Amino acid sequence: MATRIIREFGDEALRKHCKPVKVMTPRLKGIIEDMFETMYEAGGVGLAGPQVGILKRVVVIDVDGEHPYVLINPEILESDGSQTGEEGCLSLPGKHATVTRPNHVKVRAQNVDMNWYELEGTELLARAICHECDHLDGILYTDKRVGPIKDNEEE
Ligand code: ZN
Repeated sequence: MATRIIREFGDEALRKHCKPVKVMTPRLKGIIEDMFETMYEAGGVGLAGPQVGILKRVVVIDVDGEHPYVLINPEILESDGSQTGEEGCLSLPGKHATVTRPNHVKVRAQNVDMNWYELEGTELLARAICHECDHLDGILYTDKRVGPIKDNEEE
C-alpha cells in the first residue's frame, strides 16, 4: 500500500464525470487499498476516485475508523430528512462550509468482489455518502454550500 497525492480544488480531475467500473482488477484493488491509506493518513472520512486522479466510480468511506466501506458504482436509492452542518473535503484542505444534506440515505453499491449490497446511513455517514457520490459526477461541496467557505481556524 502507498499513499497517493490528493488532487486539490482547481484540478480538472475533480470536475470530471467518472466512468462505471466494469470488472475488478488487481490494479484497481491496489488503488482502493491506497485510497484507504491516503484517507486515513489525511484524517478524512471519505475519498473518491477523482481525488486521486482515478476517473472511475469508486469511493471509500470510514466515518468512525472502524467501519470501512468500499462503494463501487454507487447509486443512492432513497434519501430523506435533512441536516445542515459544517463540511470539509480533503481536496480543499483547511477549509469548510455549511452544507445541507439528507439526514438518511440508502445506497446500493458493489464491493471489491463486485457483489451488490445496500448500505444505510444517517448523520455523518449519510453526509459522507452524499459528498463522495457527488465527487463521481464532478460536484464539490462548494457547489452546494449555503454559507461562505471558511478557514478551519476561523470561528
Ligand atoms: Zn470531498
